[in-house]
Amino acid sequence: MSRPKKQPAKDCIFCQIATGKLPASKRFEDRDMVAFDDIHPHAPIHVLVIPKKHITSLADVTPKDKELMGKMLYRCKELARQLNIADSGYRVTVNVGKWGGQVVPHLHFHLLGGAPLTERLSLYTEAAVLLAKE
Ligand code: 5GP
Ligand code: ZN
Repeated sequence: MSRPKKQPAKDCIFCQIATGKLPASKRFEDRDMVAFDDIHPHAPIHVLVIPKKHITSLADVTPKDKELMGKMLYRCKELARQLNIADSGYRVTVNVGKWGGQVVPHLHFHLLGGAPLTERLSLYTEAAVLLAKE
């Protein structure tokens, strides 16, 4: 099991949601994963799909996790259907690491929909590049 250096899994907010220690509006749960509403939604439908076991990010996924990754992506598709956004279309994104915009160091898939989403996939700005190099 992968552990972030600065934040042990016991202090991980998504581990605590997965075990029920922290509340969340759950949309789905099985032995492998939990799906729940994002606390600060970026779209009318914004669900996070997380593995129950602590994996820091997509970059820490191992060959043993391949089946789990497939199950999580399939769950996004099923949730989209259940939440009635399948026909209109939706987006699934994974932020990875600092420059990828990942804030919570526990792997999560964002399922976004319920309104037309911007065409831009959060492209970089020159100002952000300069700041990152400082
Ligand atoms: P990231 O930027 O790491 O890809 O996305 C983290 C997401 O987790 C953000 O959209 C943020 O709103 C959401 N989030 C952070 N803390 C909590 C929480 O305690 N509960 C819920 N439901 N969502 C959270
Ligand atoms: Zn965790």
